[in-house]
Amino acid sequence: MAKRRLCRRCHTKLEIDQETCPACGEHNPIPKPWYTPFLGFLIIIILGYFLIDFGAIAEFFGLSERAPVVEESTSD
Ligand SMILES: [Zn+2]
Repeated sequence: MAKRRLCRRCHTKLEIDQETCPACGEHNPIPKPWYTPFLGFLIIIILGYFLIDFGAIAEFFGLSERAPVVEESTSD
């Protein structure tokens, strides 16, 4: 059941998705669920996962299989 919201200034009944009061024009922000910022953060992580080249990062930390070959100078 959708809970009816009231204008915080004049207490006119507002629709659940109505942000601006039709009577006084007061802006009534729709309350967002607590997980909204986490959801946005999660989307950024997922996008980053596909956008960031992990091979380059692995190489940076020396985890790449393509390790630089160090030529040993053998004196004989
Ligand atoms: Zn109002």
